[in-house]
Amino acid sequence: MSSKEVRKSDIIIIGSGAVGNAAAYFLSSAGRSVTVLEKDTVGNGSSVRNGGQNKMNTRGEPELSLGMYGVTEIWPRLQKELDVDIEFRKTGGYRNALTDDEMENMQKFWPIAKKYGMHIEYMDGTELRKRVPQFSERIAGAAHCEEDTWSNPLKTTLGLYSKARALGAKYYDHEKAVSIETVKGRAKRVVTECGHIYEADKICITACFGSRALLNSVSLDVPFTHALCEIFVTEPVPRILDEIFIGSKGGYYGTQTIHGSIVMGGGSRIGAFQREGNHVEFTLTPDNVPSGIKGLTDLFPSLENIKIVRSWSGWHDRTPDDMCCIEAIDEIPGLYAACGFSGHGFGISAPVGKVLSELMLEQPLGADISKLKFNRFMPIDAFTGDDRKR
Ligand SMILES: Cc1cc2nc3c(=O)[nH]c(=O)nc-3n(C[C@H](O)[C@H](O)[C@H](O)COP(=O)(O)OP(=O)(O)OC[C@H]3O[C@@H](n4cnc5c(N)ncnc54)[C@H](O)[C@@H]3O)c2cc1C
Repeated sequence: MSSKEVRKSDIIIIGSGAVGNAAAYFLSSAGRSVTVLEKDTVGNGSSVRNGGQNKMNTRGEPELSLGMYGVTEIWPRLQKELDVDIEFRKTGGYRNALTDDEMENMQKFWPIAKKYGMHIEYMDGTELRKRVPQFSERIAGAAHCEEDTWSNPLKTTLGLYSKARALGAKYYDHEKAVSIETVKGRAKRVVTECGHIYEADKICITACFGSRALLNSVSLDVPFTHALCEIFVTEPVPRILDEIFIGSKGGYYGTQTIHGSIVMGGGSRIGAFQREGNHVEFTLTPDNVPSGIKGLTDLFPSLENIKIVRSWSGWHDRTPDDMCCIEAIDEIPGLYAACGFSGHGFGISAPVGKVLSELMLEQPLGADISKLKFNRFMPIDAFTGDDRKR
């Protein structure tokens, strides 16, 4: 492509993670011409590096409508429509408490969960160990959530990519978007690091923490940071549980895969890893994998001699309230964005992609995203000084 040539399509998506690929899939299915720009290669972001969980029982209320849209409609639909088995399973999940105080705190979620049609059952440690005998005696109780789910991150992200391509979406790898340009106040062009220009009536940013620089190029800002987080997988062991498991304060999360390995991240609040105060300290990083393993064996003492097969890391794009931002940006018609998933975006990636497509196709939305606008952080635009409250 010469640097003067302009590639045109109906819609440009920046970033080919699960969110961008889901949007590309739904928009291509609706007959729109879609271009996807990826700075690296497809499937190299967080979407293929995560634990695969949809932890409905720890989501903030503003994300629950999206979560339920995913569990009831969008994930089962993808399981049927994509050409690969994405291993979507309504596993249910145990959220474990170490103390009676934590147990009491978890119970505050019940009325919220009920409002969204979720089913949560609380139990003491004795009942929990009747169901999953390997759980440590130190766990005081748990909340079981029927709506927690799991899907295979790699198969989902690449399955969406393959299907979107089969429907006509055009993907460009090693094409880093550096700025968005407006024409008569509307988002119209994307300029890439190589100097290439892409043009469309609608531009959607789904670039994880790369979204911040792109929003800055049109004088908008979202105050999210990014952090590198580690996750590991063990050798296969005999079946312990089918459900996903998480700490009551989100300190650790894990799943036993179909073939028996345990995938776990986030550290553990009942191991050497436990520290008081700032929950960010519970994050597992490449430097402290042994603490996470200690956490796993504290959770399941019978796994004392388990071997770790490998560990890897990926980026979290973290907002101040740990909830994502999804928006058709009013100040710049034609510009859309979804980012700031704060370490739990994979579980809602498919419904977020669907809702982005609904926004761009001007269709009724399948989920309420009204509490997920950027302006909850930045009422005053950082660059222009304009009031973003609306
Ligand atoms: C270790 C780990 C475990 C996790 N576990 C879970 C879990 O169990 N459940 C859960 O729900 N979530 C989990 N997450 C979070 C989840 O992976 C992310 O929230 C989700 O994948 C975000 O999807 P995305 O499509 O927004 O981002 P990504 O998958 O990161 O995709 C963004 C893409 O944009 C590209 N890009 C960036 N900038 C540009 C640019 N300027 N131009 C072009 N392309 C660009 C990137 O290269 C990348 O491919 C975990 C994350 C990590 C790191």
